[in-house]
Amino acid sequence: MSVSYSDVEAAAERIAGVVHRTPVMTSRRIDDQAGAQIFLKCENLQRAGAFKIRGAYNTLARLDGAQRRAGVVAYSSGNHSQAVALAASILGMSATIVMPHDTPASKLAATQGYGAHVVHYDRYTEDRAAIAQALAVEKGLTVVPPFDDPSVIAGQGTAAKELLEDVDGLDAVFAPLGGGGLLAGTALSVRALAPAARVYGVEPEAGDDGAQSFRSGEIVTIAAPRTIADGAQTTALGGHTFPIIASLVTDVLTATDAELIDSMRLLAGSAKLVVEPTGALGLAAALRLAQGELAGRRIGVVLSGGNVDLDRYASFIGRG
Ligand SMILES: *Cc1c(COP(=O)(O)O)cnc(C)c1O
Repeated sequence: MSVSYSDVEAAAERIAGVVHRTPVMTSRRIDDQAGAQIFLKCENLQRAGAFKIRGAYNTLARLDGAQRRAGVVAYSSGNHSQAVALAASILGMSATIVMPHDTPASKLAATQGYGAHVVHYDRYTEDRAAIAQALAVEKGLTVVPPFDDPSVIAGQGTAAKELLEDVDGLDAVFAPLGGGGLLAGTALSVRALAPAARVYGVEPEAGDDGAQSFRSGEIVTIAAPRTIADGAQTTALGGHTFPIIASLVTDVLTATDAELIDSMRLLAGSAKLVVEPTGALGLAAALRLAQGELAGRRIGVVLSGGNVDLDRYASFIGRG
């Protein structure tokens, strides 16, 4: 494996004082409904609204002087771009973000608000990775990958490290799964700090490449899935994330869009937490297992982010 728990510890030192140590929240109403004790690690309250600043800052802080002067490039319409833009601005570096032409105005504004330079591309005709690579070569920029990178994985692992330091005796930890940076880092921390605890990754039912890969023992690639969980619309795990997940994770589970909406409503109503659809994946699966094998247990859940357009959020929460 290309990353170990000592890398997570080093990342924790690098991000200290810059990235929030987010609260772990509990709710009597959620526990009553779940039939288990649920501990919510609130990365929806993190800087830039998601855990991604952990990996982004850890990666940028490790660059050498020449790399820092040249700046970085990332491609994503989502939380990773905002995290790279914020981390670069904190470190006084320039960031270029490759985003589709039809990126929602709020995400474009957030990214530009952190001082990043945005390059647009056409998502139907152009390859964003190729555009980023070309910029990297032309201008000497360093590409910051969204999940498949040892420094990114180590940074993402700091969220579960904090959770396990703050809560004793957890029987299981649930984390959302897209490309696997968060889950791989989470698994490294759980195996080091609570070796007997189970670790579950949870992905959208429509995009179960992670479950297929976990079961078959090799990386399975799927078509881009249709789901409200836009932070987990990845098509394959990575060469760094997959081996860690395959060897350290208990199982990979899925959740339907309807279950995500139920979980978002529960979080809003009972804990007063605004969580984006992808951020609710872990809770959705935890509630299901609490009806069976995890009944009455102590369960940690990473709420991975809270960046959701308010009109869209209202349409989810307003239903039912
Ligand atoms: C990126 C993201 C994920 C998935 O993380 P991976 O490291 O790609 O598995 C989950 N939730 C939110 C809110 C995200 O932004």
